[in-house]
Parts: sequence; structure tokens; C-alpha cells
Amino acid sequence: MGEMRRWLAARGRLRFCLTIAAVIALTGACGALLLVPNSVLPKPGAVSADSVVGQARAAVGDPRLDPVRRTMEPFGELAAERVSTGDGAQSLVVGHPGQRRDMEVLAGELPGAVAAVSQVWGRDWAGSAVVVLTANISEFAGLVHAGADLPTEIAAASVADPFVPGTRPTGQRVVFGPDASARVGPDGLRTLLRHELTHVAARAGTVDGAPLWMLEGFADYVAQHGQGHRFAEIAPTLTARLRAGEPPRDLPADREFGGAGAAFAYEQAWSVNQFIAERFGQTALVDLYHRIAAGRLDAAGTDRILRETLGSGRAEFVDGWRGWLAHQVG
Ligand SMILES: [Zn+2]
Repeated sequence: MGEMRRWLAARGRLRFCLTIAAVIALTGACGALLLVPNSVLPKPGAVSADSVVGQARAAVGDPRLDPVRRTMEPFGELAAERVSTGDGAQSLVVGHPGQRRDMEVLAGELPGAVAAVSQVWGRDWAGSAVVVLTANISEFAGLVHAGADLPTEIAAASVADPFVPGTRPTGQRVVFGPDASARVGPDGLRTLLRHELTHVAARAGTVDGAPLWMLEGFADYVAQHGQGHRFAEIAPTLTARLRAGEPPRDLPADREFGGAGAAFAYEQAWSVNQFIAERFGQTALVDLYHRIAAGRLDAAGTDRILRETLGSGRAEFVDGWRGWLAHQVG
């Protein structure tokens, strides 16, 4: 143990790796698991090797890792890192050793992302997540339980075990596609992480088939909230359409969230949620999410909920949004 302490001190940094052999020697388990315990260790010199090994044991023994390992180990060694995300909650970042740089980015972002989600949604969720970086599309599809037809435009996804609505879901994880980092960069990873964590937080109150303008727009609202990005940066396609005098006529329909027009649909959905937060307040937005996401809705149902929550029916609400949009671009 003394040797590890010296080695740790010599490294002079918070993170370290245990080689595969060391993991086996120290924990007696997990042949293919390479651990990168994050730690929460303010001063490497002040940390006992025992506590570091304890972290490693805890990560190896974390039951949330098991289903991830089963899918990922055929694709190579794993790296796993524990991250404290407040109130005693521990998140896990999992990937392959070659992805360590992106793992560090996500591990660094996780505490802030969890706090950002809780700030909008409230604290009634786990406050932690398993975040996985995949190395290829098969691994990605396997971890999100998607078939071979997983659309390539998906950069990240969140998933949970089947659960009874109203109960807290288990098996929740956020999974990044193999080229997510290359496609969006560190800033984009932050936004994607917050977006997917919002889905994780809201999952217990979200019914499959609820309108996507609410589900996806809310996740993007939380992801962008407080980041200081301008309207045109967040919604470039929508901005171009508005400047061309082609504003959206109605809320984006669910079918528009896939295929070539997906970016435009997501941007519109974000803008609807941003409009609600600015016009009616963030509390009203969260209240609306709870009610809209609780079921499949026809036009009359949506109309009733909008009227009860925001004080205006669907047509008036859409008019308000379109009027607000007209003022967002110069
Ligand atoms: Zn989403």
C-alpha cells in the first residue's frame, strides 16, 4: 500500500489508474475491468491508499455496472470512474480506456449537470446516473436496447428498465454514441449530458407517447438553461426560417422529430419551452411538463391542460409563442 501511496503522490493528480493486474490483486474480481476511480480526493498526498482501494472496490461492486459490463466487455477493456454528484449520490462514468479523455470531460461535467437539472426539476430524482461512452454502434445499440436500425443521427440516449409509471425507474443510464464527442465537442457533450439527465430525472413522471414538443423541448430547455447561449446559437435552423419569413405554424408533431427535419423540430420544441419559462415562469413550465408528460393527449386534452396551467387554450398559446418568436431574431 505504501508503494501505491508514493506512486499516487508522484503522479500529483487526482485520478489514477489501476492496471488490470492490480485490480485483480486488490479486489479479486473483474478481470477485464480497468478502473479509474475519480476521486473526490482533494489532496492526493493526504489520501490513504486504503480509501482509494475502497473506491475501486465500490466501483467494481456497484451493481449498476453489471448490465453495462455484460454488453461492453466483448468490445474490449472497460474503464469505470465514480463521481460524487451531491447528497451522497455516486454516479458512474464507464467507457473503454481509449476514451479516457472524454470520460474525464463527462466526469468533470456531471456534478454541475446534476445540480442544473435539480435546479429546474427539483430534487425528487436519484441525483445520479450511469453515464456510458460507447466505442461502436453495436455497443451503443445494445446499451439502449435498440435494434440494428438505430438512427445514426442520434448522438446520445437515455434508457431505463421497464417500470410502473409513478415508481422510480431502475437501470437508468445515459449512453453516448461512438462519435458523439467528435461530432459535438466538449461544449456539446455538456449540453447532451444535461439533456439526457433531464430525461433521467423526469422519467418517473413521463409516459411513453406523451408529446415530444414537451419531452424533448423541456430537456433542451434544461440543457441550455443558464449557459448563456444566444437564440441563434441554440436554434440556427429556426432562426434562418424566421429570417426568411417562414415561422412555424403549429407545435412540432411527433413525426417531425426524426429524419431530415429533426433538428428543426428539436429547436422549435426548445423555443416553445423557453417561451413558456420566460412568459409564465419556470415553475409553470415544470407544472406543465408534469401534466402534459403524464399521458397521451389528443388536441382537446392538450387544450384543457394549457388552459388550466397557463390560462389560455391551445390556439391562443400557439399564437403567443409565434408572436414571441418574431421578436427573437433581428
Ligand atoms: Zn431527448
